[in-house]
Amino acid sequence: ELLTNQIAAGEVIERPASVVKELIENAIDAGSTQIDILIEEAGLKKIKLIDNGEGIPTEEVLNAFKRHATSKIYSRDDLFRIRTLGFRGEALPSIASVSEVTLETSTGDQEGAFIYLRGGKVIEKRSAQSRKGTTITVENLFFNTPARLKYVKTIQTELANITDIVNRMAISHPGIAFRLVHDESQLMRTAGNGHLKQTLAGIYGVALAKKMRKIEGEDLDFQISGYISLPEMTRASRNYLSIIINGRYIKNYLLNKAIIAGYRSKLMVGRFPIAVIEITADPLLMDVNVHPTKQEIRISKEKELMALIESAIHQCLSKEQL
Ligand code: ADP
Ligand code: MG
Repeated sequence: ELLTNQIAAGEVIERPASVVKELIENAIDAGSTQIDILIEEAGLKKIKLIDNGEGIPTEEVLNAFKRHATSKIYSRDDLFRIRTLGFRGEALPSIASVSEVTLETSTGDQEGAFIYLRGGKVIEKRSAQSRKGTTITVENLFFNTPARLKYVKTIQTELANITDIVNRMAISHPGIAFRLVHDESQLMRTAGNGHLKQTLAGIYGVALAKKMRKIEGEDLDFQISGYISLPEMTRASRNYLSIIINGRYIKNYLLNKAIIAGYRSKLMVGRFPIAVIEITADPLLMDVNVHPTKQEIRISKEKELMALIESAIHQCLSKEQL
């Protein structure tokens, strides 16, 4: 079982940013409205998440570190209507198998629990006084898998990956207040008041957010909305394009292409905008069960969606004096 977890970890936990992503997803699934992420040495030394979600009942804590123990799928049918972010029950056992994990959690209505695991083995478990919510600390990532440690890049690259993940999580959840602190300096902080534009301000700064324009569009299957930056704020890469489908941040090359096509239909520039597109659609049009990291997604009627995105951006920019 330990070995299986380490193998699974290779698939799901490629770098510190993957740990951050999985832990944030768990905090979101637990209904948190505030998530603090404290990082040391780009996550290699320490990744600490503090959430105010529903917590884990004491009797479930051990279970949470068992493979395929998920509290989130109740029937086969659920697999096709996934609304929560996590659903495979792989993240915690995988992370724990390649690090030292300390978890303190409470549901608020009973005594809390504390557990400490090293390399997936439970070293200590006891009750704990705890506020409602969960604090999880992951230390010395990959300490027992030196091969994996070799793939980890520089502190700067890993930190950029973490920032990127946290930003995207914040963008896809404007109702949650996120805070990211690295080696005691605060890198971002969002208000969590539900407004996408204010979330963008928390990430990119107020001045830039002010200059973003609203995108809107719909057809029979999809409803889209979001923001796009004006040409004075172009970027050298497509790293600033975010696509969110039904609250889930995804990566999709073709949809990125549609954003760029819409942007360039009005502007003859070889650069890229900062853009966020939120898509609402029947979950039955999506297949998220494609890759363990769950960022790839198969979309039915993708061509139609591309056309919708491109034309909504074209329309939005047509209103501007460019
Ligand atoms: P999954 O998210 O796919 O269910 P994980 O391994 O990520 O699997 O988590 C295992 C279980 O631990 C979850 O199903 C959930 O019940 C519990 N859990 C993990 N993190 C938290 C958290 N921050 N707050 C509340 N429950 C949590
Ligand atoms: Mg999870």
